[in-house]
Amino acid sequence: MTSSLRKAAAAAVLSGALGAVLAGCGGGAGPSNGGAGQARLGASATPSASASASARASAPAPAAGAASALPRAGAPGKAPTLAPGPGGLTPVFERARQKTEKTVALTFDADMTSDQGPRAAGGEHFDNPQLIDTLRALKVPSTVFMTGRWAEEYPDQAKAIGTDPNFEIANHSYSHHAFKSPCYGLPTLDGAAARADVDRAFDAFRKAGAVNTVPYFRFPGGCYDDQALRALSTAKVTAVQWDVVSGDAFAKDPDAVAEQVLAGVKPGSLVVMHCTRSAAPVTEEAIRAIVPELRKRGYRFVKVSELMGT
Ligand SMILES: [Zn+2]
Repeated sequence: MTSSLRKAAAAAVLSGALGAVLAGCGGGAGPSNGGAGQARLGASATPSASASASARASAPAPAAGAASALPRAGAPGKAPTLAPGPGGLTPVFERARQKTEKTVALTFDADMTSDQGPRAAGGEHFDNPQLIDTLRALKVPSTVFMTGRWAEEYPDQAKAIGTDPNFEIANHSYSHHAFKSPCYGLPTLDGAAARADVDRAFDAFRKAGAVNTVPYFRFPGGCYDDQALRALSTAKVTAVQWDVVSGDAFAKDPDAVAEQVLAGVKPGSLVVMHCTRSAAPVTEEAIRAIVPELRKRGYRFVKVSELMGT
């Protein structure tokens, strides 16, 4: 475990139940697939390098006039996906391997657990409109991994994000429950319920009027195993993990978050952050430090869909 992961894990423990929930969104500690996913990747000899090759292979060639076809609201649009793994298992993308390009994808989890409605009603902010505004102002194309419950709570913001070409919305489940147990104390969904939960999130995006949706799925907590990958195989999504943990969950020091991101980013990296004010209060400030510095280092910001196609 790296020291940054140790720090993040410690922070998640200290922040108690709320920490468990946000850590469960992938920000409190690193990818937690219990090794099963890695074993699968190892066994099938398809680490990210060859996964990138499959991304290229399965990426639809941009057809002339394709841009004029408006995507159906809430329906995952045409975006590169990875080829399924052995036995049709949902493929997993973690980062791109780049030799000449220097791009990085910032991703923001819009977490809201299905039982957090009363807390939102009580004034807790699960949204972060200022962060979205900053990403727009700085022209940072970004991918928002949104829960369906979040889209229901903030339909206007879901629509604004989902109709702005600067963003794409990916699926972070409807309920933010776990797809593998244990996972930071999150309640667990079984196979059929897990599959239905993914559809329910896409339905929520459609109801909100979001059109820029992509067929990518981030497991709550990043927790998955082969059984979870099998449960989602008919959803035709690509699971998206990350290689850089920002540590923004419950962080109080934006500089520390920026430092951790700047230290971790490599060409082709995928960074996990959050757009949830109550649980990641310094993310917007950290972004204002991260973006100019990475640009100075020659990086270009891309959405996950572009990263997957490189
Ligand atoms: Zn999450």
